Amino acid sequence: MRIGCIRREKGLRVRIAVAKETREGETRVAMVPELVGKLTGLGYVVVVEPGAGAAALHDDAAYVDAGAEIAEEAWQGADVVISVNPLDATVVRRLAEGTATVSFLPVNSSHDLVTDLRDCGITSFAMELVPRISRAQSMDALSSQALVSGYRCAVVAAGLLRRFFPLNMTAAGTVPPAEVVVLGAGVAGLQAIATAKRLGAVVKAYDVRAAAAEEIRSMGASAIDLDLETLEGTGGYAREMTEDRAARQRDLLAPYVAAADALITTAAVPGRQAPMLVTTAMVEQMGPGSVVVDLAAESGGNVEGSRPGQVVRMGHAQVWGGANVPAQMPGPASRLYAQNVVNLVTLMTRGPGDGDEGGGAAAFAPDFDDEIVAGSCVTHDRTIRHEPTREAIEGPSERPSQGDAS
Ligand code: NAD
Repeated sequence: MRIGCIRREKGLRVRIAVAKETREGETRVAMVPELVGKLTGLGYVVVVEPGAGAAALHDDAAYVDAGAEIAEEAWQGADVVISVNPLDATVVRRLAEGTATVSFLPVNSSHDLVTDLRDCGITSFAMELVPRISRAQSMDALSSQALVSGYRCAVVAAGLLRRFFPLNMTAAGTVPPAEVVVLGAGVAGLQAIATAKRLGAVVKAYDVRAAAAEEIRSMGASAIDLDLETLEGTGGYAREMTEDRAARQRDLLAPYVAAADALITTAAVPGRQAPMLVTTAMVEQMGPGSVVVDLAAESGGNVEGSRPGQVVRMGHAQVWGGANVPAQMPGPASRLYAQNVVNLVTLMTRGPGDGDEGGGAAAFAPDFDDEIVAGSCVTHDRTIRHEPTREAIEGPSERPSQGDAS
């Protein structure tokens, strides 16, 4: 079943607009010149808002050279609008009914916007809802942006630390390497480990998932074993800790934190506040010149008292709180995100020779029977398709449960 096929009249091509980001501090862009040809090659017209790529160091001329058009309010008259952050409500309300949007869309904190998208008849896709199955790996923007964040965390730690990461053996003597501890070894944590290792630090890491220990070792770090039960949830993610387990974990981690020159925390549990892994008292045990980098500062913080976008002093340590960390490396973050978007749009494209009944142009034709399309769709056809969000906004379904069927 294909619903919501966007195809222009004969001779007109489907228009994809690249929005200029409006969130304060955002530097990324949803499409880079290098990948414009992938979309025009599929038969789309690509229209970019002036200056959309400027903060990621892509000027308008580079987009034009790549085959795109530049237009103010490019989203007007577009069939599909792509962006990193969700569009502003004022823009959503001015889109034509049936327009599709592709962006990050944090549904739990965007109920008003989701309501607008529903009421305006917009088909919206959320990049963070793309199912994490192997077929969708190339569309997984959570992973691509976490990779950038993990790298950035290690480089920030190295930059703030007033000593070498690597061992240095010189004629003037030997300088020992820095000791780095990484807590949380998902995509970002593993990248932080790999980067700190490449810089020559001695790295130890801990994660609550059993599988993580092997992944930590494969990066050349040693896995910290706290002799606690592991916490696997569904889909390869971690489960939330009980307060007892959390307190025990903090006690057992305290000596590792105290001995670290740099501590990098990247722990998260989907749909929950970041777990608090490190108390202020634990940080205060760290030595002079020590550094803490808390990637989770924006979502509650792994480190008590960390502040997003700020460096705060705790005891001897400088504690750096991450805020929109991928935007601190807009070049690679935009390139990877744009490739994720291209791959998702390609999945939703019906080519001219692909059962075409409309006259030779590519169609944007999401197949809602495909689990990637269905899983990432938030609104379509004036309904909220993402059930947990629908229930949170509209209340429990009135459909009879199986037991009530008569
Ligand atoms: P995430 O951002 O949700 O969490 C980061 C890490 O924090 C996780 O490894 C988690 O186990 C850890 N964590 C949670 N609570 C903790 C605690 N109390 N103490 C220490 N660590 C804690 O995770 P993620 O980076 O998105 O990846 C999670 C898993 O999903 C990994 O196994 C990853 O390999 C897998 N994954 C699969 C795919 C795919 O198949 N397409 C894509 C990406 C990630």
